[in-house]
Amino acid sequence: MLLRHTKKASEAVDRKALTINPAKTCQPVGAMYAALGVHGCLPHSHGSQGCCSYHRTALTRHYKEPVMASTSSFTEGSSVFGGQANLLQSISNIFAIYEPEIIAVHSTCLSETIGDDLKQITEKAIADGKVPEGKHLVQASTPSYIGSHVTGYSNMVKGFIDKFAFNTGEKKRQVNLISGWVEPSDMREIKRIMKIMKVPYVMLPDTSDVLDAPMTGKFQMYPNGGTTISEMASMGDSMATVATGHFCSRDSAIHLENKCKVPFKLTDVPIGVKATDRFIQAVSSAAKVSIPEEVNVERGRLVDALADMQQYFYNKKVAVYGDPDTLIPLCEFLVDLGMKPMAVVSGTPGKEFAKRMEAILAEKVPGAKFANGSIADMYKLHSWIKEEPVDLIIGNTYGKYIARDENIPFLRYGFPILDRIGHSYFPTVGYMGTLSLAKDILNLLMDYQDANCIEEKFELVM
Ligand code: SF4
Repeated sequence: MLLRHTKKASEAVDRKALTINPAKTCQPVGAMYAALGVHGCLPHSHGSQGCCSYHRTALTRHYKEPVMASTSSFTEGSSVFGGQANLLQSISNIFAIYEPEIIAVHSTCLSETIGDDLKQITEKAIADGKVPEGKHLVQASTPSYIGSHVTGYSNMVKGFIDKFAFNTGEKKRQVNLISGWVEPSDMREIKRIMKIMKVPYVMLPDTSDVLDAPMTGKFQMYPNGGTTISEMASMGDSMATVATGHFCSRDSAIHLENKCKVPFKLTDVPIGVKATDRFIQAVSSAAKVSIPEEVNVERGRLVDALADMQQYFYNKKVAVYGDPDTLIPLCEFLVDLGMKPMAVVSGTPGKEFAKRMEAILAEKVPGAKFANGSIADMYKLHSWIKEEPVDLIIGNTYGKYIARDENIPFLRYGFPILDRIGHSYFPTVGYMGTLSLAKDILNLLMDYQDANCIEEKFELVM
């Protein structure tokens, strides 16, 4: 038993302050991931080397790609007197040596605590002539004692819109896609759907061809992918915005509307049938196009396959953990499959998140437990599972300890996945991605049955 100290929920102490194995990571990790989705951009961590190493490691281990980022390298002196001098020096060095088009600076716990003002420092850098002609600085405040990596992602995307999007007064026939935190393959799948729908678009951020770039034999500090500066500038002239994922994208969509008068539609990350329907409808009405037959055919194919699978999903209990933008459509989908998400946690706080999750669960899963925020950790999830065992666990790599101890099938899903390879190449959004997700869930349940059933129940045909 790896987690031999976890107690059943009914025997566990009611905690007010202690987090045990959090179900989230820190804000700058999200800020760094968002910045990597912009072409020619180098993420910069304004804090200690240790923070930057952690953020890069988390991303590198998940995406299996070298993640480039720089740091202000705080020492004892900068920790006491402030990091302005370090950041100004960093900006000069980075533009001279690494030649990015943009440096995207995010703060850390330490620089926030000592009160460094990134806006003031970056303005000073420009005033002091440390930013070469045609190069740019973007900044986002990302103190990690507030929110989670989801908040950091949202803040950094908003920073790009604040810096680059402008309304020239000439409308473009294009739709902005402000993407929630999904895999590079998911971003590529959403772009494929946009092509089928014949909708011109700008996607921000776009990590496809950055964190899943092909092997070419040549090192490229800044891969070909990512949203370009001119694309971001044009977002202010788009006819509308579709923002996927309320918690990663809403602030940016609102900011773009306020700044450039581009109306937006907020929708969930398209995981599952209903959420994909909502996404397709949102794009269709934002771009004023009808839904092509090819999209309907993909939907029909998914529904047909789900009808074949449904008997195996029915009444299966699931424990799920992760990020709000993923958990909401995922749990809705699980409920639609006839499954019961009995235990759901997320380290990301938020009352609106809790309200939406409770609405999804209350209707069809009586007795389901949900918690979010700092006390909603992996320990809590495990104690709930000990109280009421489940048939499947879905979440990032950190759930493997619970899955092993309790002998429960485990689907690695979300961020980070540290102990497997390939997850960032196969989409789980849209109708086709949803089909792939359903297939993975079903295979796990059937593999478990094959491995654990008595000989008389071991069937060739299932
Ligand atoms: S100190 Fe804060 S910013 Fe740095 S790694 Fe820890 S949580 Fe993240």
